[in-house]
Amino acid sequence: MNTRELQKEILRLKSERNCFILAHSYQSDDILEVSDFTGDSFALSAAAKKIDCETAILCGVRFMAETVKILSPEKHVVLANPGAGCPMADSIDAEKVRELKRMHPGYAVVAYINTTAEVKAECDVCVTSSSAVRIMENLDSEGIIFIPDRNLGRYVKNRFRDKDIILYDGSCPRHANISADTARSVMKLHPEARFLVHPECGEDVVGLAHFVGSTKEIMDEAVSGSAGEYIIGTEISIVQHLCRACPGKKFYPVSNDLVCGDMRITSLGDILDALNGTGGEEITVPPVILKKARRSIDRMIELGR
Ligand code: SF4
Repeated sequence: MNTRELQKEILRLKSERNCFILAHSYQSDDILEVSDFTGDSFALSAAAKKIDCETAILCGVRFMAETVKILSPEKHVVLANPGAGCPMADSIDAEKVRELKRMHPGYAVVAYINTTAEVKAECDVCVTSSSAVRIMENLDSEGIIFIPDRNLGRYVKNRFRDKDIILYDGSCPRHANISADTARSVMKLHPEARFLVHPECGEDVVGLAHFVGSTKEIMDEAVSGSAGEYIIGTEISIVQHLCRACPGKKFYPVSNDLVCGDMRITSLGDILDALNGTGGEEITVPPVILKKARRSIDRMIELGR
């Protein structure tokens, strides 16, 4: 089947089988075209929770599918491509978190949403890249262990002089690999462009930016901003989506290497197989883990208000 035929069959099957397709913003346009909701990781879970459907098919990576399951335990949650993982999320496990807690008694553990369910279950509160600063402001704890992203952690830490924040040494290999020299050379090529950066990038790259924010905040800023040119410091798919959304503006990737292979392995064929029950993986989270992980996410919602 060609792309159009695959899309047509997916649209037919998803309504016949009461399925809801969630696609992370880093997915390709052909997947976004058949999805019911597009957004970043926590937005996908929040959307799935509100929708009346039996099955949610997730086009993204494993920790995102787990987060959908934690918020919607009554639904079948299927990860369209079971091979889609996240090196940052996989850089820390529950035992490592317990060890950090033993090393720093009394410290609160703050986990980026890009973590596995079992890691969320060991934490006090989760954060997203857009809510991290606000949640830390509202967190009544002066000692904090921030996991797993050292770059987001440092970005947050720089805003708090009164808290002792210990950073775990994890990172997103795609965002963290962008060097300040690379960013400077693109800025030199496009001197009129505003540079919008995700806080998963290194501190020296973030220091060059005109704007720092989550994927959604970067997209909103680029769409609504008055500038005509933008350099995008996050996954390259966002450049493609913005070019489509704003044909009158110019968008440049900070690097053509900022590509998340894990996000890119999902295909329309995977979605079709998941709908037919011949592919994908139904996500399960043990009830004890689910309950504790849910507490960390509920706390995030409460402190993020
Ligand atoms: S972009 Fe980075 S943090 Fe996001 S899924 Fe890929 S490896 Fe993980």
